[in-house]
Amino acid sequence: APTVGVLALQGDFREHIAVIRGLGAEARPVRRVEELAEVDGLIIPGGESSVMDKLSRAFGLADPLKAAIAGGLPVYGTCAGLIMLADTVLDAIEGQQSLGGLDVSVRRNAFGNQLDSFETDLEIPEFGDPPVHAVFIRAPIVEELGPKATALATLDDGRVVAVRQGNLIGTSFHPEITGEIRFHRHFLDIVRGASA
Ligand code: GLN
Repeated sequence: APTVGVLALQGDFREHIAVIRGLGAEARPVRRVEELAEVDGLIIPGGESSVMDKLSRAFGLADPLKAAIAGGLPVYGTCAGLIMLADTVLDAIEGQQSLGGLDVSVRRNAFGNQLDSFETDLEIPEFGDPPVHAVFIRAPIVEELGPKATALATLDDGRVVAVRQGNLIGTSFHPEITGEIRFHRHFLDIVRGASA
């Protein structure tokens, strides 16, 4: 059975571990390079991307993470995790870096102060019915989708909020807090395919 690691430096990693275990797969927190080497896939949770960036560099995880992504490790990022996976981050704080991997430009806190958080239903053709009930919390938006990335979900106004590129998935929102399991199930399929 595949083992999914969840980057546990900061943010809502516990919720992701619970969803993966609920799907019958093994999940464990990843805080050290040795732990990264033992997983078949990785989830980067929501939280605060600038803090996650600082901690991953301080703990010597950033370069191993970049190498793992380049080597094809399946990675799913939610919200701050999507920011970490983006090749380009707009409205980053001074000195903030991302790991990259997804051919996208992502803008942090894209919905402004009036609309710090909101919920909406998203039609995702791959998942069928019912639509995904998506919760956005100080969420990023995919402002530019490069040719290597594919949109999985868009808002009614066409803005992209979920992407896939090879073994990488990113969502602006947080399926792990609403009981939505289809993204994690889809991710487990990718992990099984990659480790077969
Ligand atoms: N605003 C956060 C950031 O910039 C992301 C928020 C979240 O993960 N819910 O990292």
